[in-house]
Amino acid sequence: MRRVLVLGTVIGLAAVSMVTFGQAPTGPSARAIEATKIEKVKENLYIITGSGAADQTAFSGGNTAVFITDAGVTLVDTKLPGYGPTLLERIKTVTNKPVTRIINTHAHGDHTGGNAFFGPTVESIVQENAKKNMTGQPEYAGANARFLPTRTYKDKLTVGSGRDQIDVYYFGRGHTDGDSFIVFPALRTMHVGDIFAWKALPYVDASAGGSVVEQPKTLAKAVATVKNVDTIINGHIPVSTWNDLKDYADFTGDFVAYAEASVKAKKSVEQAAAEYKVAPKYKGYVVTIAEGFVSPKGNLQMAYDELMKK
Ligand SMILES: [Zn+2]
Repeated sequence: MRRVLVLGTVIGLAAVSMVTFGQAPTGPSARAIEATKIEKVKENLYIITGSGAADQTAFSGGNTAVFITDAGVTLVDTKLPGYGPTLLERIKTVTNKPVTRIINTHAHGDHTGGNAFFGPTVESIVQENAKKNMTGQPEYAGANARFLPTRTYKDKLTVGSGRDQIDVYYFGRGHTDGDSFIVFPALRTMHVGDIFAWKALPYVDASAGGSVVEQPKTLAKAVATVKNVDTIINGHIPVSTWNDLKDYADFTGDFVAYAEASVKAKKSVEQAAAEYKVAPKYKGYVVTIAEGFVSPKGNLQMAYDELMKK
């Protein structure tokens, strides 16, 4: 529990600074690089951890997937700016193949910051709304626009074939309006990024098109559509399972149902937040992250705003 809270603080603060685009990145600390480990998930698939750090100076961004194909390495997510060299160093411990493709789960800087390091000629893929979100950021202004993703899709994209096949899906709004679900069918594994970042209330970025109310529907659509996956790579926690994803869809759905019932009962956001409890079946879940960066009150306020607009 405590570990999750500490980790949450780390994530929260990084996310806050990431939202405040335009700040000069301070660069990776030695401890952050030290905390970045490459771990095997399945044959030819690894993650480079971005979390599990014991303090804020050791936070490097979201989990990076390293998928080794015949043609080269596909990366999913590239951590904060400045982590390109560390990613490459870790990759070199498991393969000599070059990085030939990057897929970003969404636009946020703690998942896309290392893209530029791999150069403008590497194929890079995001959902079309994520590219829109990236286009507005100062790090892609002027000459840096050449580091914007080279390829987008709307609902589904398949790249590679056979054991190298990757299916990329968009199922709707959630953490942002451009969250991809990236499936490695041969390995029964899916990277879900921050639409399931942790076992806690979600961080929803309304400024990037995110939606508290839509998120459970999007997750349920993923659960109903994607087949033959047993392993989930999350945004900011260790690898989880298909059942964990199903639980998270239910957990976020229950939260929205609670918000709807509270609106109906004419409860204030404050009252509804004070009375909110996680059902015991969601073991290990926490509700507050980073001392209120994510909280029942914040998420209920967003849900109320969305529900009242309907
Ligand atoms: Zn994010």
